[in-house]
Amino acid sequence: MTRRLVLVGGGHTHALLLHAFAENPLPDTCVTLLSNVEAAPYSGMLPGHVAGLYSYDEMHIDLPALCNAAGAEFIRSEVTGFDPESRVLRNAGGTSHDLSPDFLSFNVGSVPKRKGVPGADEHAIPSKPVPDLLEGWRSLLARESPGKIAVIGGGAGGVELTLAMQSQLPKGSEFIIVHANETIMNGHNDRVAKILTRLLAERGVELLLGRRCVEVTPGRIVMEDGAEVSADTVFWVSQPSPPDWLSETGLALSEKGFLRVRPTLQTIDHPWIFAAGDVAAIEGKSLPRSGVYAVRMAKPLEANLRTSLAGESLKEYDPQERILSLIGTADEKAVASWGPLSFRSSSMWAWKDRIDRKFMQQFEEART
Ligand SMILES: Cc1cc2nc3c(=O)[nH]c(=O)nc-3n(C[C@H](O)[C@H](O)[C@H](O)COP(=O)(O)OP(=O)(O)OC[C@H]3O[C@@H](n4cnc5c(N)ncnc54)[C@H](O)[C@@H]3O)c2cc1C
Repeated sequence: MTRRLVLVGGGHTHALLLHAFAENPLPDTCVTLLSNVEAAPYSGMLPGHVAGLYSYDEMHIDLPALCNAAGAEFIRSEVTGFDPESRVLRNAGGTSHDLSPDFLSFNVGSVPKRKGVPGADEHAIPSKPVPDLLEGWRSLLARESPGKIAVIGGGAGGVELTLAMQSQLPKGSEFIIVHANETIMNGHNDRVAKILTRLLAERGVELLLGRRCVEVTPGRIVMEDGAEVSADTVFWVSQPSPPDWLSETGLALSEKGFLRVRPTLQTIDHPWIFAAGDVAAIEGKSLPRSGVYAVRMAKPLEANLRTSLAGESLKEYDPQERILSLIGTADEKAVASWGPLSFRSSSMWAWKDRIDRKFMQQFEEART
């Protein structure tokens, strides 16, 4: 009997999963990918693309071609609703996908948290979805005079993106990073924060720490205490939050609204539904939302889908507690952050570049 596996979202985990199916197809299974984009951005190369170091094609995975190599069906669709009882998925146009999946997996990523901040939706450019970020970046690049740019969020994404954008804009464009905590790069060791704070100062980026932006108006951002800062363009790169529509699916959600999954990556109430990457909150673990984990979840997801289809028992994914982060500084150098260790050098950038190019190369090879 042929079963159907539906993958929602072509994030890092599903891209690798499809790559694995291209090499070793799932027996007796029709695989369908529903994705709102044909070209899936690879986060590791995103700041490098903004810094002019990688082309658009170099940092995007061609999902229809990957599906073709994997013998899977590709459907362009922005999923905005799902009912686990009827197993019906709905898209943004209100149409239902009558796919009757036997197994389903979500890998739809996250969006920066800006709910309840007046003006943020209308006047700030979000870091996700990536196509929106790149569109905002391109229109800023096209301006004769970029003026003052505010980046809300001083985590790795905000800092790396700031350095990348600054490297491409004319001298005289001003940057300010607004961050709610007293130090940038939370979740990394103190030395990482020190290295990057010093570098931002050297490059003339202003830091507004311990302050929260509570409103965005055209030309201004407003702080909690009512203070206003002028900003011609605002990029919103704050904490990741889940897509809104998940809250109406009836699936069990974590306190922050992500999909609650067991260490087997199965949702806690529906063993036939899986989730991986940023959208998944693994019970008992508190993992940072990072592309590295989304990549690492591909192998356990593949293994557990295969064992589920065979009716065998599933294995738990045991994530590494420490991961190596390599943060590019837009000058062909990178800061390495691993547990208590950190340093910045050209060899760290060369290493990051090798890892990222190798990651993308495998999708090219799958097509040929
Ligand atoms: C500026 C910036 C830089 C970053 N740099 C790094 C880095 O260098 N290294 C690192 O490890 N992490 C980095 N991150 C974090 C990283 O982007 C995420 O952790 C990672 O992308 C999560 O991968 P994912 O597979 O869960 O989802 P994603 O990569 O976000 O992929 C989700 C996919 O699902 C699709 N999708 C979304 N919603 C729907 C829907 N409703 N219907 C259909 N399709 C949908 C999207 O189009 C997308 O293709 C960065 C983040 C930012 C904001």
